[in-house]
Amino acid sequence: MGSNRVDVAVIGGGVHGCSTAYHLAKKGLKVALFERDYISSGGSGRSAAGLRYQFGTEVNCRLAQYNMEVIPRLQKELEYEADLEYDPAGYLWIAYSECQLDQLEKNVKLQQSLGSPTELLTPEGIHRVAPHLNLEGMLGASFCQLDGHVNPHTLCFAYADAAKRLGAAIHKKTSVTGIIMKNGRAAGVHTSQGDWEADSVVCCAGPWSVDVGRWVGLEVPIEPERHQILITEPVERMRHPMTLCLDDGSYWKQCPNGTFMFGWGNPEEAKDTSYESGWPFLEEVTTRVIAKMPILSGVRIVRQWTGPYDNTPDFQAIVGPTPVEGFYLDCGWSGHGLQFGPSVGRIMAEFVNGEKPFIDVHRFRFTRFEENDLFFEPACI
Ligand SMILES: Cc1cc2nc3c(=O)[nH]c(=O)nc-3n(C[C@H](O)[C@H](O)[C@H](O)COP(=O)(O)OP(=O)(O)OC[C@H]3O[C@@H](n4cnc5c(N)ncnc54)[C@H](O)[C@@H]3O)c2cc1C
Repeated sequence: MGSNRVDVAVIGGGVHGCSTAYHLAKKGLKVALFERDYISSGGSGRSAAGLRYQFGTEVNCRLAQYNMEVIPRLQKELEYEADLEYDPAGYLWIAYSECQLDQLEKNVKLQQSLGSPTELLTPEGIHRVAPHLNLEGMLGASFCQLDGHVNPHTLCFAYADAAKRLGAAIHKKTSVTGIIMKNGRAAGVHTSQGDWEADSVVCCAGPWSVDVGRWVGLEVPIEPERHQILITEPVERMRHPMTLCLDDGSYWKQCPNGTFMFGWGNPEEAKDTSYESGWPFLEEVTTRVIAKMPILSGVRIVRQWTGPYDNTPDFQAIVGPTPVEGFYLDCGWSGHGLQFGPSVGRIMAEFVNGEKPFIDVHRFRFTRFEENDLFFEPACI
């Protein structure tokens, strides 16, 4: 056991675990990351990989600004050999009711007050940025041209490889099976490949953080929820922005390789972490998207998959130290966490290293649930 000793053990090889490992290793800490499957095999690699300035709470807007500044230069910073496919094709949130439009107006006001380049569009403005849309029922939208897309796999691989170059050990196909506790504090991890002692343990295990939390006596309030996505064959580039319709939660965008991605959150979807997907989604999502974007009628579907959201009661993440000394949480991203890898990986490393986080994330604290201090993110689906 003596040789398996690190400063920090990180659980989970999604974007949050990989970014945290990178930022910790950059500070000179000895890090071991444990991923039970392959890097990006969880929610990160199954996401729609949308990036945006457009959030509705101040802390998310501030973190988003940092993410959006960092992502375009990340490939260079991480010295990664492949393209991260950042594509600023824009992001449209479309309102179909006065109440939705009011909320978008509030969001844009907040975003603009913090310096984000977002705008409100009338239906004519929507037509200008997305000429193929059927405008029926659309009252207005919020839009940001710099919002867009990244490749979620290469984003995770780039962080993991950079962490490795800085000395971190990346243990794939290695499950964490328990937490070593000493004198009431987290002191390492039990894994399928042996035990590792560590001064700190950071849990970035997405919806599986519930199990990890129980090992240290914490009830992490996360409910998993299946979400499905499909990909079409590639078609001519239309520079069509990511489009999210608030009437039914359907969304779609054109990826840099010309394929379209369709998504829709089915309220009837199972609340579990199964990766199974099925026909009802395919039928529902294509019907909805084609009604709103008729030009896509007849485009063939190539593949489809499922990933888990890790929803908290207020759809906001849980970030930072916990009542268990030496045990930190970065989870509960409730369907919008891929893009927060850059900012929050840095913040987790700052927490573990005893520094003040560069953006105040007190609102994300684990204890807010028992303190009844929830704060809802209005810009999520
Ligand atoms: C369909 C869909 C669409 C989405 N669209 C977007 C989007 O457009 N934009 C956006 O920003 N976000 C989006 N998200 C959300 C985003 O995917 C997640 O918020 C984000 O990827 C969470 O990253 P993570 O690192 O916290 O967790 P994950 O990527 O889920 O990583 C957790 C990892 O922990 C590993 N693990 C779990 N338990 C253990 C254990 N005991 N031992 C070792 N390893 C373990 C898992 O295998 C997994 O790889 C979407 C999600 C889905 C499902």
